[in-house]
Amino acid sequence: MLDSYAVVGNPISHSKSPLIHAAFAQQTNQSMQYTALLAPMDGFQAIVENFRREGGRGLNITVPFKMEAYRLSTHLTERAEIAQAVNTIKFEDNEILGDNTDGAGLVRDIIENLGIAIEGKRILLLGAGGAARGVIFPLLQKKPSQLVIANRTPQKAQTLQESFNSHGNMDSGNFMRFAGEKFDIIINATSASLYDELPSLPSDIFTQAILAYDMMYSREPTRFLKLAQHQGTQQIADGIGMLVEQAAESFYLWRGIKPNTKPVITMIKSLI
Ligand code: NDP
Repeated sequence: MLDSYAVVGNPISHSKSPLIHAAFAQQTNQSMQYTALLAPMDGFQAIVENFRREGGRGLNITVPFKMEAYRLSTHLTERAEIAQAVNTIKFEDNEILGDNTDGAGLVRDIIENLGIAIEGKRILLLGAGGAARGVIFPLLQKKPSQLVIANRTPQKAQTLQESFNSHGNMDSGNFMRFAGEKFDIIINATSASLYDELPSLPSDIFTQAILAYDMMYSREPTRFLKLAQHQGTQQIADGIGMLVEQAAESFYLWRGIKPNTKPVITMIKSLI
């Protein structure tokens, strides 16, 4: 029987994870299968337990179950503990190991694929939801000069700042609080692009930026990326690289092999 893995979410039909892991498995000669599982909103735990009972080896977890996966894990990696969210589960004997590879995926995409150092840079992170929470600690580990969190609801940004303050130089507020300030890297971790919306940003926020990064991905550049380009940002990138890199980190946790992500990023881009 093939080793079995899956991604669990709701909705799930849009997920590219089965394609990504099939490509990794083929590239590294791993005998495994990877499927997508739709969990009812109140049925995540039952889906996980059933999958495990049937011999499943590991899971990816996506919206909206990352917090529930965190609570279900019997032990956690440091990055999952700090993020308080789990996107990767590995079943080990009687234990459920919970990890969070989202932040490592983003950091790898910025540094390795886009060739931009994070150390010494001033970063503006837009959004204070699950995606933002998952990337703060890995970003701070790369020693930016400052990490600023801006959110439509500024209290949520402040709460995040308070939880991560001890790990680096941080600030937070609403979007307009940082009008007139300069940032090297601006990351959109809001879900605005999902609805073809744009966060209400200060008018010249992108002018000095070397990178604008939207965690969302779509065939055409999002409104966020178009605005950044228009204001002269040196480089723009969508979240496909992050998606493939976080998958590669999960694959490594399960199989102990690092796949080559470059051809898989190219393949996924051609399918969007
Ligand atoms: P959440 O629902 O947890 O958080 C949404 C965030 O977006 C909140 O901060 C919310 O602000 C803000 N927001 C929503 N609409 C607007 C708007 N119109 N203007 C300004 N701010 C807005 O979502 P997630 O954090 O889970 O996901 C965020 C994005 O990241 C999604 O687009 C998702 O697809 C993407 N993502 C990509 C990944 C990848 O691998 N590429 C991995 C994970 C996520 P408020 O607090 O005020 O409501």
